[in-house]
Amino acid sequence: MDAFLSKLESMLSASGRRVSSYTTSSAIAGDSALAILRVNGRKLLCVGASSENALLPAFQGEVVVGDGGVVKCCPLTHENAVALRASVPWTAPVSLRHRRTTIGCGDRLGVATPGHIRAVREYDAAPVLAQQSIRELTLTGRTYENVVDDVTFLVLQEGYTDGYGADGDHLKTLVDIDTAVDAGMAMITLDLTEKMNAAAEKWGEAQVCEAFEALGERVCSRIMDTYADQVFDVCGEVVTIDALEAKRCAVMYLRAMDFSREAYDLLKKRRGDAFDLEISIDETEAPTLPAHHLFIIRELLYRDIIVSSLAPRFIGEFQKAIDYIGDLAEFERQFRVHCAISHAHGEYKISIHSGSDKFSAYPIIGKHTNLRVHVKTAGTSWLEAVRAIAAADPDLYRRMHAMAFEVLPEALKLYHITPDLGRIPVLETVSDADLPGLMDQDDARQLVHVTYGGLLADEKISSAFFARLDADEEVYYDFLVKHFVHHLEELGLNPKSD
Ligand SMILES: [Zn+2]
Repeated sequence: MDAFLSKLESMLSASGRRVSSYTTSSAIAGDSALAILRVNGRKLLCVGASSENALLPAFQGEVVVGDGGVVKCCPLTHENAVALRASVPWTAPVSLRHRRTTIGCGDRLGVATPGHIRAVREYDAAPVLAQQSIRELTLTGRTYENVVDDVTFLVLQEGYTDGYGADGDHLKTLVDIDTAVDAGMAMITLDLTEKMNAAAEKWGEAQVCEAFEALGERVCSRIMDTYADQVFDVCGEVVTIDALEAKRCAVMYLRAMDFSREAYDLLKKRRGDAFDLEISIDETEAPTLPAHHLFIIRELLYRDIIVSSLAPRFIGEFQKAIDYIGDLAEFERQFRVHCAISHAHGEYKISIHSGSDKFSAYPIIGKHTNLRVHVKTAGTSWLEAVRAIAAADPDLYRRMHAMAFEVLPEALKLYHITPDLGRIPVLETVSDADLPGLMDQDDARQLVHVTYGGLLADEKISSAFFARLDADEEVYYDFLVKHFVHHLEELGLNPKSD
């Protein structure tokens, strides 16, 4: 492979281009060899063969004829990403339902994948390298095609052949699911917030009973027979549901369960069995009671829905980018029951949303899930990008920091965080060398974490930011590896021995 890379390099250099290669990047498809190369400073997908006739026809680009072969230099477009996934299958997302530990590596910028791969590949875990919610798409001006395509090329750049996931995160409609699947996504996180009746959590008995009876005779008697006044022994933990709570669960969740079946049917139709469905009920005010979790998974199974993972809302606060806030002992007590319910119902993974940086909760999470868990991270990789900027371009960081304060009020309409801005050091008093350390200070972290939309919407900042990350990509990858290894170690994963 090295010989192949150097041949590509020398053919392109001979044509007067400035070329450098990624030593990990190469693949064979048919009579062609493929790699990501940097040509005149710009990343391209280069497809080489002995003659023009032998080149895979699906790729679009400029053909360079060299000594003893030809190279097609293909820009990183959607069409070329589609062709790459078709000719080199390991560059396409796959289902990870049989992988025990999966790590959601959300990357709002489309450049972090090599850092994620380098960290996760050293452990017995599988990465979900593409993962974005509609909210993040809107704020970053990206599409699901962009999200999957960026990862596709970077997976080739790293030569990562072990299989990765791609998650259309927090989707609420069948139309959005279709769009995500069209783009190649193999995992869907179905957000049931709008289909469930969260308000019924606080309803009195009369209101619950009235709504319950409206569900119809047949449904009512099935629910009462199955759940009312039942004691469920789930792997040593006891979950009881009284008659009122059974009715309440039906009122709160049954419509959402039927919708889940529609989403599941759509995924089956589109992808056979090659998908992961995650059910998310985490974006509610009240923590998910064990009885409710049990009701939901049993109703999903009753509808023959196979879920890969389920995200309850846990007790305490999982704020973005900072450690767990709340009573860890109580978190552990409840978390243990959630895990027992999953053990007793087919071993789907418990999914931890806003999972980055919850270092004090990780040992508990790793222990009780026995590492059958999905941990979702997103904004933390953006913060590491900002840390890389602080290290590589202090002036740019200072401009971004100042602007973050300006755009914060807008960001706070979308994100629930509670930073104390007064604790953020005054920038003029911080030396250049200490700037990256600001990303270790919780209040500064949260400030920068939620303001990505406003910062990236600024043309000047955005172009300088991406140019710097591109030029200093290894600086960024190094920060990411360090940060993710910290996550994996605290969860209790062991490095692979070989
Ligand atoms: Zn969530």
